[in-house]
Amino acid sequence: MTDAACKLDASAAVKTVPVCAKRMVCYEFDTKATDAGVAIPYLVVINGKIDGKLNKLDRSRKIMRTVNVGSTVALYLNSDVHPDHRSTPVYAVEVGNNHVLIRITEKTGQHADLRPVIGTPSTRGPDKPGEPAQDCYQAPLTGNIWMTVSHRYTEVEADKLLALDTAVEIRQAIGSIYRGLKSARLQIPLTMKTADRVQTLNVAFEESGNPQKNIAGISTTADVLTRTHPWAFEALFKEASKLGITDMLITSCWRPCYGSIAHRAGLGLDVCYIATPTQKVKINRIGLLFKGHSNNPYVSDAEKKLRNESLALQAHANNKSDQEATQAARNKRNERVEEMDKTQPKVMSALREGLRIQPVVGQLLDPWYIDLNTHSNTSRSINEQQSKTEQGHAHHLHITIREPKIYE
Ligand SMILES: [Zn+2]
Repeated sequence: MTDAACKLDASAAVKTVPVCAKRMVCYEFDTKATDAGVAIPYLVVINGKIDGKLNKLDRSRKIMRTVNVGSTVALYLNSDVHPDHRSTPVYAVEVGNNHVLIRITEKTGQHADLRPVIGTPSTRGPDKPGEPAQDCYQAPLTGNIWMTVSHRYTEVEADKLLALDTAVEIRQAIGSIYRGLKSARLQIPLTMKTADRVQTLNVAFEESGNPQKNIAGISTTADVLTRTHPWAFEALFKEASKLGITDMLITSCWRPCYGSIAHRAGLGLDVCYIATPTQKVKINRIGLLFKGHSNNPYVSDAEKKLRNESLALQAHANNKSDQEATQAARNKRNERVEEMDKTQPKVMSALREGLRIQPVVGQLLDPWYIDLNTHSNTSRSINEQQSKTEQGHAHHLHITIREPKIYE
């Protein structure tokens, strides 16, 4: 730099350049009480504005932002992240001179008195002289708070979400769910295309227990069904109507403190029983792993024998790792799948196939098959009742609704 360039211009006005002090805000979640890794969808709000894209809690369990001193930071969580549902920011903090750590710990049981607020901090540090200290807050995540961050759909919202070609009887039935059912039952009069008559689809909703354990005074009709995405009911009732199903038992919809994010975000629904005038199906393959005869009509002795042979051939192939052994194991496995499908009720496979091609459906997990992505052709596998997911779906059909504005 030349001397000339360094010379100050005596006539220049003195300008104050503000140096914005930055502080780190960290939300740290502990959800070990129900599922240490549950992938909660979130958005960060800084001074009332969304900062960054829709995300989900990862293995670090942390959400971090560097913000200006004086900023207010909060979160939208769970189904509240949807652009139409952003009315309840939680765990708001005003950032002062210190860094901020907010530890959010999930608690099961009934804690109606606990709110999604951060309370008063304890201050620690600074680690090095001259650096800011850290304000540490403790905050709860309870069944009631899960309910606070789970959108409750209105009848008008539900009606707008349904497809234009949804039959009027189904549309009206779904509307009545969000208006508030008088009892946990629904009767849908369906006009059968095949026969010129009206057949009633009787739907019963069972209390799943988890909402009741974690939220005092919760109502299945007013609080649980209305927090379940309308597409879940739409997909199921449409297929039931096509197949002439007359009865079904739905055992779990929205729930706060158990399992994957699907049910907590209102995107999951479980069915454990379906019936037509000629067939009653308990959606269940318990007995597959029992020694000897299973007493389950959908787990035949022949299938169990073929399954054992197939497992033995697979173990042999893994040891030998030659092509012939691998092929023999594959053939036996195919034989076993054929045998499994032989005893599968037709209405069950038809229901699965119908749901699989619906655009609003994302996952189908049931006692026969596990399909973690119905939009891919390669994601389906047999439910062997080995993994946690497989064991958890040995006795019902689970449907996950695909709504990328909430969870992907
Ligand atoms: Zn489920």
